[in-house]
Amino acid sequence: MFERPPFKDCGSCGQQSATGIVWISPSSFKRRCKFCKVSTSHPLPDLDKQVLYLDQFAITAIFQTKTGKLAPGAHHAKFWSEASGLLDRAIMRQQIICPASNIHRDETIVHYDSEALGLAHEMLGGDTSFENTTQIEHDQIFDYLDAYLKGQNAPRLEFNVDEILHGSRNAWLQDIHITAQMDWSAFVEDTRRARDDGAANLVSLYDRWATERPTFEQVLSHELSDAFATYIGGYLHFMSKAAAAMKSGDNEGFMQGALAPVVSLIHEINRVFTERGIPEAQALKETAKFFAWPQLQTLPAGWVSAHLFAAIADRLAKGQKRYPTRGMSNDIKVISVYGPYVDAMFLDNECADLLQQKSVAKGVNLKARIFCLKRKDEFLQYLQDLGDAAPVEVVEASRELYGDLD
Ligand SMILES: [Zn+2]
Repeated sequence: MFERPPFKDCGSCGQQSATGIVWISPSSFKRRCKFCKVSTSHPLPDLDKQVLYLDQFAITAIFQTKTGKLAPGAHHAKFWSEASGLLDRAIMRQQIICPASNIHRDETIVHYDSEALGLAHEMLGGDTSFENTTQIEHDQIFDYLDAYLKGQNAPRLEFNVDEILHGSRNAWLQDIHITAQMDWSAFVEDTRRARDDGAANLVSLYDRWATERPTFEQVLSHELSDAFATYIGGYLHFMSKAAAAMKSGDNEGFMQGALAPVVSLIHEINRVFTERGIPEAQALKETAKFFAWPQLQTLPAGWVSAHLFAAIADRLAKGQKRYPTRGMSNDIKVISVYGPYVDAMFLDNECADLLQQKSVAKGVNLKARIFCLKRKDEFLQYLQDLGDAAPVEVVEASRELYGDLD
């Protein structure tokens, strides 16, 4: 590695502008003199970064702003430019990360040049990314299973954000980006599955709500008591799909069925029961009993999403003609899975509105502050305040590592 700017005078040989950064680790950095090659290690201050979830459209807008691809006259261009600057400042002051998620599905970013990739990488949380949404939901189910097996009530989850992140939230950001090693799998992984999921069969659900006009409470209680059908029903669906595919020699179809996340989930739970001495033939029955456990209705992932779907039903029942966009089921997944853990989310107006609906707000108390285009100024203020709040020693260290940024 070469010595990189910003340069300082060397304390060993006395040369001016001689020592440069050679290495930044999560909690320290190394300077080395270009001339005498003496190197020194320096600890970096501890950090406690906030976690912000950015919706795909926000990532795209900020990314386009940074790469000069967002036309100055574009909708909200001024806002995105300000947001991008303040976000950079807060990121460089090590106050916030915006990790990438499997729900982010814009693969176009992957095709930009390496400098742009570096920007995106840094913007999207450096080496930190969100755990897969399905995995987070399944982890919650296992916490519930644990309580169920002990005969306890539903557990109170702690919603520690580090539990749902890969990589270290509080690592100091690298000053250079090794693009070849960048992990873009979060973008590509699951993309197809996310597209196949839901969208089509939701329309028939929307139709039903629009014609049958159920109340918010009716839909809520139906959605909440539906865990059994969702998991056990889903499992049986994919298993029969796999069986049919195997019969007809359709390998891909077989894999799709046999490797569906819900299938692995149920098999894992079955195994928990067999390990406790339940005969294999009885395991699925015990698993099904667990999914009928009334307390499972409070599972955070299901609880939040049930409220949001009930709010959509409520709107359709009250005559809203426009159906939610195709992306809505992913948005709901994101809110219900990440919302209890992260500090803030930037969502589209429609989702932010749903969360504000009185009946939703009454039942759902997310940790996350919710921002959207309707509340632009609040978002800018939030980013400004975050950057301002960086302790002096952190600001000084970030100047030492990355140079003067503001
Ligand atoms: Zn020197």
